[in-house]
Amino acid sequence: MTTPNSLTIFGAGLAGALLATLLARRGVPVTVYERRPDPRIHGYEGGRSINLALAERGMAALRVAGLARPVLDQAVMMRGRMVHHTDGHAELLRYGRDDSEVIWSVHRGRLNLTLLDAAEAAGAKLHFDQRLVEADFEAGLARLRDETSGREHAIAAPAMIGADGAGSALRQAMARVADLGERFEPLGHSYRELEIPPAADGGFRIEPNALHIWPRGGYMGIALPNAERTFTVTLFLPNEGAPSFATVRTVPEGRALFERDFADLLPLVPEFDEDWARNPVSPLGTLRLDRWRLGGRALLIGDAAHAIVPFHGQGMNCAFEDCVALDALLAEAPDLETAFARFEASRKPNADAIADMAIENYVEMRDLVDDPDFLLKKQIERALAERLPGRFVPRYSLVSFTTTPYAEAKARGARQWAIVEELARGKTRLDQLDLERAAALAAARLG
Ligand SMILES: Cc1cc2nc3c(=O)[nH]c(=O)nc-3n(C[C@H](O)[C@H](O)[C@H](O)COP(=O)(O)OP(=O)(O)OC[C@H]3O[C@@H](n4cnc5c(N)ncnc54)[C@H](O)[C@@H]3O)c2cc1C
Repeated sequence: MTTPNSLTIFGAGLAGALLATLLARRGVPVTVYERRPDPRIHGYEGGRSINLALAERGMAALRVAGLARPVLDQAVMMRGRMVHHTDGHAELLRYGRDDSEVIWSVHRGRLNLTLLDAAEAAGAKLHFDQRLVEADFEAGLARLRDETSGREHAIAAPAMIGADGAGSALRQAMARVADLGERFEPLGHSYRELEIPPAADGGFRIEPNALHIWPRGGYMGIALPNAERTFTVTLFLPNEGAPSFATVRTVPEGRALFERDFADLLPLVPEFDEDWARNPVSPLGTLRLDRWRLGGRALLIGDAAHAIVPFHGQGMNCAFEDCVALDALLAEAPDLETAFARFEASRKPNADAIADMAIENYVEMRDLVDDPDFLLKKQIERALAERLPGRFVPRYSLVSFTTTPYAEAKARGARQWAIVEELARGKTRLDQLDLERAAALAAARLG
């Protein structure tokens, strides 16, 4: 391609830092501006979700960057969902066939530090405390505010990439000169984080190699392990109704909800009152755009282009896929405009698909994981997957353990689920099904 004088990335979060690494390794001059201070000097400023589930797509991208090993060294394996029922008993629903099909809990701050080090080592120039405030795309200029002095200054940025997250300032600047077809769909549910500390002997208080779920129909709690032997608990509640963050506001109200609905979880959170009072309630929603670019001058990636709800654990994974896809397109396309156009055309249907699947997974996690009818369907799905390896692959597996494009995973998943629903009709137990015949039928239907 005709290498531009430089590519300017706004945001050194997960996507910005990985993209900078990939580009710099190929010798593309890349400069990154991040509004926050350098976390390697000042410590990581949290913000949201302390840990994240890393799946195969994210791993594949990290492999391209040569970073899979250092990241996995800091991660905790999660084999499946540990479902905590209201009567106090818990059961593990495995995600995949064996330990080759697992997801990993990674610490957002540590992951970001690893990526920043890699970007700098590859030759990217990183500038911190630099907030993008405005962009002039015609002139190829960006206006930044130095967050330490409050002073503003302009930089030349003929090709701008917005990796500045869901509240993207670059997106806002683009929207001032072009209609991006932006829609924000609030989920109507929000979240608050709490912490399970290590046990007295320094170990984990509950099974470490699982993503814990307390499904309560309409709302739920989850917990992901951290390498420090803590768990980050996230309570998801509706914004309105009962219970909701409108009715459960104060510490005593929070406690009362936990005593009633999360009785086995409450004793695991000894600093419940402090956590509840300190940690904010953050809203959730889906951001969709019709356009992610302005010719060859500006492009949005990651959450800046497609923020999704976190219930499939795929926002970062999808953002990492964006980085690898864009890097490959930049390497082969004749010019930036073509590369940006191809990126939008290839990634948008996939971002739309994972946005939909993430919402559906919320319903599955909170309402269905303790519903006998749903659990039977899951058993049928697993039985078919065992009998038809490679042909019948559950949608969760396609999304989490493969790099099958999201749109294809969604379409294939819908065809497969229709077969499962048909087979489950009128049944209450797996042994009521002739599994060999069921597999033959599924094979014929799937073609
Ligand atoms: C509760 C929750 C749980 C989640 N769990 C998962 C999970 O398990 N698995 C998963 O894959 N994903 C998960 N996600 C999604 C994931 O966090 C995002 O998809 C991911 O962080 C997107 O990366 P990004 O680089 O696009 O944006 P961000 O990580 O938000 O990074 C944006 C960066 O831009 C900087 N910035 C912002 N504005 C400016 C500006 N004006 N100028 C310069 N810099 C700026 C920010 O400081 C930040 O560093 C979760 C999200 C939430 C909210």
